[in-house]
Amino acid sequence: MSYGKRKITGIRVKVNRLRGERFKAENRLMAQPKAMLGGPLIKMFGPCGNPNCRCKKKGNKGHGPYYYVQVKKPDGKYTHKYLGKDQNAIQLASNYSEYLKNITLLRRLNREIDTLLNDLSRSGIKQGGKYHGQVKKSGEKHQGLDAKQ
Ligand SMILES: [Zn+2]
Repeated sequence: MSYGKRKITGIRVKVNRLRGERFKAENRLMAQPKAMLGGPLIKMFGPCGNPNCRCKKKGNKGHGPYYYVQVKKPDGKYTHKYLGKDQNAIQLASNYSEYLKNITLLRRLNREIDTLLNDLSRSGIKQGGKYHGQVKKSGEKHQGLDAKQ
């Protein structure tokens, strides 16, 4: 499939938009590192033990939020620890969440830009040309590449 000029322009516009987003994400990550816990903040809501409580009504998400931090166990699996009402710990876990959001976004943008630039570059490959897909016959010597022989 050959790329028309309109498609090439479309790819460039898309890459430029993604580069703008990447620049912002990079700047957020370049800022002075904030103190943080070693895992992201998890907010949870849930029902209580009282069968007559309003939290048992349909559509009620329950009591909360209750704050936890996600932590990695020595076996590599994840668990979470309750932070209670420790506002400082909640803020520090929230800082980790912010970092994680930015680094995940940066990686996604890099993959998207990589794919688009690869498509753009490869659109220059001539299909069906004289040198396209030619395989060297057995016993035939390379021309030029094996100059040392
Ligand atoms: Zn309740």
